[in-house]
Amino acid sequence: MTKTIDVQVNAKNIADIKKGYPLILKEAIINPDALREEGSIIRLIDRNRKFVAKGYYGNQNKGIGWVLTRKEDEEIDFDFFESKIAAALARREALFADPETTAFRLFNGEGDGIGGLTIDYFDGFYMVSWYSEGIYSLKHHVYGVLDKIVDYKGVYEKKRFDTKGQYIEQDDFVKGEQGEFPIIVKENGMNFAVNLNDGAMTGIFLDQRDVRKAIRDNYAKAKNVLNTFSYTGAFSVAAALGGAVKTTSVDLAKRSLAKTIEQFSVNGIDYEQQDIKVMDVFDYFRYAKRHELKFDLVVLDPPSFARSKKYTFSTAKDYPALLKDAIAITEKNGVIVASTNNSSFGMKKFKTFIEQAFNEAGSKYKILEESSLPKDFRTNRDFPEFNYLKVVILQKLK
Ligand code: SAH
Repeated sequence: MTKTIDVQVNAKNIADIKKGYPLILKEAIINPDALREEGSIIRLIDRNRKFVAKGYYGNQNKGIGWVLTRKEDEEIDFDFFESKIAAALARREALFADPETTAFRLFNGEGDGIGGLTIDYFDGFYMVSWYSEGIYSLKHHVYGVLDKIVDYKGVYEKKRFDTKGQYIEQDDFVKGEQGEFPIIVKENGMNFAVNLNDGAMTGIFLDQRDVRKAIRDNYAKAKNVLNTFSYTGAFSVAAALGGAVKTTSVDLAKRSLAKTIEQFSVNGIDYEQQDIKVMDVFDYFRYAKRHELKFDLVVLDPPSFARSKKYTFSTAKDYPALLKDAIAITEKNGVIVASTNNSSFGMKKFKTFIEQAFNEAGSKYKILEESSLPKDFRTNRDFPEFNYLKVVILQKLK
């Protein structure tokens, strides 16, 4: 039986919660000692002990939990989880019906009504990610709902919490049939090899689906493409399928070589015609300058933070410098896809980074398009802080 406890929240957070803000902020709790067991259901009350909302206790970054309902008589039980997950499924009907796309996000945390929980769909396999001990302790509801309302091949999970916020190596298989990995999923007709039981990452970041499509359809034809922080080379695959003359993928991780060869191969692309470099992007920029290499299309999608033997990098601080390096090896009239998933700043700030980089490079640009998370990564428009992705596609004018 889940316990319910009363938690008093300060006026500012209460006002936001009434407007629909889903996160219960750590610093907003007036009686933190009441919080004991993660997964407890909490009633948020104001200073006059009046009911405001109900949520659960689960520590995750700056929050201690998520609001689940603003209705006092709504129980947080199996039916609650079923209604949220069924609604999320209904919203993705068009994706389920699309034979060209078999991988997407089915349930996006607070955007679909339950913070701390995401479910991704990979061609009949469901991958559930748990972002706190608290939501994980409610897993029987989620797995019960999946048993009831979807026809899965298999279910996998990722626990994205522990004391250090690090991913714990584990067997991610939960139930159903085990996948024979890699399985091949489709995205707008492109193939991607995916492994749901090989560490924190699956081989593809589903939130960049629209960007991959844009690269393939609009920016790659007859171009010489550089993909930095390339991971498994998904952007390079999109560019090659879009008619790029050549792609160069650069990633520091040794695994990226085999993974990128695999992604090219499952799309019938001869990887030997492509360049795959296992090296530090910052070293590559220097190498490219020395050899006077220039590219028509450069993709920049770094992790929010990275530490290699030689460099530490944080997008919040170093994006302008990184972009400046990219500008230096982009052809005149070439295109740069500048992307970041750092949630600590918004689009406005990101655009000032772009401005700064071009100023410092003594160069000019024009923005061709900008975008954020795709539709299946549902977020509340009133609270852009949860829409972490920022992508600006721009052209270097001189
Ligand atoms: N853009 C990729 C995802 C990037 S994930 C995509 O859309 O699929 C971040 C990647 O950056 C990881 O694969 C990591 O190995 C790589 N990385 C981190 N620091 C790096 C550095 N200094 N040089 C090159 N690669 C780096």
